[in-house]
Amino acid sequence: MQWEKITANDLVQVAKEEVCIIPIGSLEKHGEHLPMGIDGLVTHKVALLAAKEEPVAVLPPLFYTYTKEMKNLPGAISIETGLLLGFLENLCDEVARNGFRKIILLNGHGGNNALLKVLLQQVCDKGKNYALYVPPIYLAPEVIGKLKETSETGHACEVETSFALYLYPELCKMDRVPEEFYTSRKDYDVSPAVTSVDWYASYPDAYVGDARKASVEKGKKMVEAQVERLVELIRKVKRDKRVLAKVKEFGEKAKASQSLSD
Ligand SMILES: [Zn+2]
Repeated sequence: MQWEKITANDLVQVAKEEVCIIPIGSLEKHGEHLPMGIDGLVTHKVALLAAKEEPVAVLPPLFYTYTKEMKNLPGAISIETGLLLGFLENLCDEVARNGFRKIILLNGHGGNNALLKVLLQQVCDKGKNYALYVPPIYLAPEVIGKLKETSETGHACEVETSFALYLYPELCKMDRVPEEFYTSRKDYDVSPAVTSVDWYASYPDAYVGDARKASVEKGKKMVEAQVERLVELIRKVKRDKRVLAKVKEFGEKAKASQSLSD
């Protein structure tokens, strides 16, 4: 089911399942202890575990994405907005050209969330012959909520480190985890407005909370719940007949209104 590991003729068979997952991550600092590509590594592994339960094609993870907010730290590779949006659309067009009509963009990096919403808008009036589905980063938040002990999480934190400890123990440098709890350092309040430096002002070292509370056991439960929910989502997407019909319908109407104004 791994696109890069199977033959072209085998892919034709997999395309009958209709669904392809594109795992999306980032390259950026993840505290002192996690590898920079952990977001894409985790989404890729989770997608492969789900594919064992419910057949889908899985593309190689996309590491080159949107992480402008980490450019103050070593290791960030952030692709310019227009270029990345165009690339993602191009990538989805190519996946669809190979017969997949349903594409799940499985994102593991918070900085990509807004961009993926823009992508959904960008393609919606183009009458594409495929549907995009964008799940939230954590598919079983209530399971995580019960397991986690720290109040602040979000990056290289107890939760993300637990995922990493279970899936990639060899890449975690737990002896480098800070000996203190990292709370938000934001020293201004302009709420409910947001600003472009909120993340930097809150977590200048790209570390949130306390990864000392992370464990393999918590990671196992979190990953299992994540995989289970992803399997459910894949099945739901396979059953879905409405989204693609609406995509086409909307595309035709948008085109018709365009020709009226010409
Ligand atoms: Zn991350």
